[in-house]
Amino acid sequence: MAIKYIDQLNLEGKSVIIRVDYNVPLDKEMTITDDTRITATLPTLNYCLGKNAKIILISHLGRPDGKIVPRMSLKPVAKRLSALIGKEVKFIEDPISDKSREEIKKLKNGEIALLENIRFYPEEEKNDKEFGKKLASMGDVYLDDAFATAHRGHASNEAITKFVKECGAGFLLKEEIEYFKKVMANPERPLTAVIGGAKISTKLDVLKNLLTKVDYLIIGGGMAFTFLKAKGFNIGKSLLEKDLLNTAKEILELGKEKILLPADAVIAAEFKNDSPASIVSIDKIPDDMIGLDIGPETIDEFGKILKKTKTVVWNGPMGAFEMTNFAKGTIEIGKAISKCSVSVVGGGDSVTAVNENGLADKMSYISTGGGAFLELLEGKTLPGVAALDK
Ligand code: AMP
Repeated sequence: MAIKYIDQLNLEGKSVIIRVDYNVPLDKEMTITDDTRITATLPTLNYCLGKNAKIILISHLGRPDGKIVPRMSLKPVAKRLSALIGKEVKFIEDPISDKSREEIKKLKNGEIALLENIRFYPEEEKNDKEFGKKLASMGDVYLDDAFATAHRGHASNEAITKFVKECGAGFLLKEEIEYFKKVMANPERPLTAVIGGAKISTKLDVLKNLLTKVDYLIIGGGMAFTFLKAKGFNIGKSLLEKDLLNTAKEILELGKEKILLPADAVIAAEFKNDSPASIVSIDKIPDDMIGLDIGPETIDEFGKILKKTKTVVWNGPMGAFEMTNFAKGTIEIGKAISKCSVSVVGGGDSVTAVNENGLADKMSYISTGGGAFLELLEGKTLPGVAALDK
């Protein structure tokens, strides 16, 4: 794939349309509670400003399903971005109207405009060509810097690319693409994947694809119990996906030299933080108990593999980490991962665990995409990235 990056394009004095992902969390008062997704785009925006460009930003927020939903307006984002970048950000209420298009045309070099939530228009998610054409006509160059949306083929990241003269990836998307290549295409080995979380069903293709790439596949979290059951262990009342038992067996067979499963577990009678916990060997889970975290022996065994690992990719917690009494496995494995030469983390829960436990700056890279990151792990080509290949 031959994608151009922002620093390979001539942006001097141009009108640059940038697809960003400002899908930030808002509280009831419409105050942004986490602006990571906005700050993550500042390198791209500042670079464009340095080139004296006019910037037209496109984003979505939430799932308004093609209708105007006032609580999903990007207005608060315009305000926050303006504070972060130290410049006025013009907010364009109805980007497709003639009046707004005139406003955009009048932008001066070095000025920034943010369009209202693009998913207020049903054409966006339909990847409507005419809509993409209208968006494309707003500027000279198109940059995609929205990795977290790259697994969707929508008008503002796919159709639009058919109508712009030049397009490429912003710094955020560039970093995601390059880090992923570093991990999966040409890793320093041993390469280990650590996969956890609740279910096998949501990560089946991830597991299958990773097995073809990694040296070790560490499986923890709720999904480990279906594998353990498939191996013949009694798992009590732990999470089980009965219909995937055969699939789990197949995966275990495929990866018999690579897969590591928990050797012990932290168990409790109820899915509650204050439910008294104990540690048992994996072949001693009583019928009425639930496995809610990996135990110390597992932390040790997984840790040994991670110690000799050079490159690691992590998605999914090792236990029900939202409950402090069942968070130790995730935290300890997080620490071991952070000591590998190249550590890449992606997916909401693992990123939360990393952030909450002061591990963020110890990781080589934290992906900004949940779904998009998983699709890369599945070995898929992301439509938003493929569209940039002109
Ligand atoms: P996922 O979205 O698939 O990555 O799953 C994340 C969720 O899995 C978190 O909310 C965890 O609480 C949950 N989880 C991890 N381990 C377990 C477990 N042993 N039993 C129940 N839930 C778990």
